[in-house]
Amino acid sequence: MIHDIEPRIFNNNFENKKAESKDLFLSYDGDTVLVREDKDKLWYPSFSDFKNEYPHLIDNSQFLFTIDDINYYLVEKKGLDTVKGWGYISTNRFRSEIKYWRSFAGVVGWQLNRWYENHRFCSKCGKEMKRSEKERMLYCESCGFQVYPTISPCVIVAVHNGDRLLLTKYAGRAYTNYALIAGFAEIGESLEQTVIREVKEEVGLDVKKFKIL
Ligand SMILES: [Zn+2]
Repeated sequence: MIHDIEPRIFNNNFENKKAESKDLFLSYDGDTVLVREDKDKLWYPSFSDFKNEYPHLIDNSQFLFTIDDINYYLVEKKGLDTVKGWGYISTNRFRSEIKYWRSFAGVVGWQLNRWYENHRFCSKCGKEMKRSEKERMLYCESCGFQVYPTISPCVIVAVHNGDRLLLTKYAGRAYTNYALIAGFAEIGESLEQTVIREVKEEVGLDVKKFKIL
């Protein structure tokens, strides 16, 4: 799985710390991410890479997380591919990156970027949301509403017959390759119930027993 990045260590403890020029940053435009591709590897930019063209980028960045001793920040500014050597590529590229921790950083950053972008305004009263300096939380000064990053529990199921796997293909989706049976847990449902329901829905089989890997 993409989060299996051992021996590297992911730390998502929130800190309200200012970026330094050596720190890396993530810039997204929709489902694309700013990278440099070299020797078949993904590289994320540091603030020092952009200090000539965008000297204030570092002042408007949000700390996200660390992997080992590398700090990752988020910048909202788009259009940074004007800097030579850098470009926005589809986040689908994460699927083929051999250095898993780079894909993992990009995916978690993409999720957080989407959360920030989708919560610019209070969903109760419509006022602009503020960023807490104490935790990863957005709040509304007007009505007091608070939001935290949402996680969506899901399952992925390997239905096998001996050494053969049962795979599916989705109709009407951008992802056209074969995939394992998978789906999100619904409200009030245990993950075990999700497994049983998803397998029944997708391939019509009744699951009697399974094991969690
Ligand atoms: Zn509000």
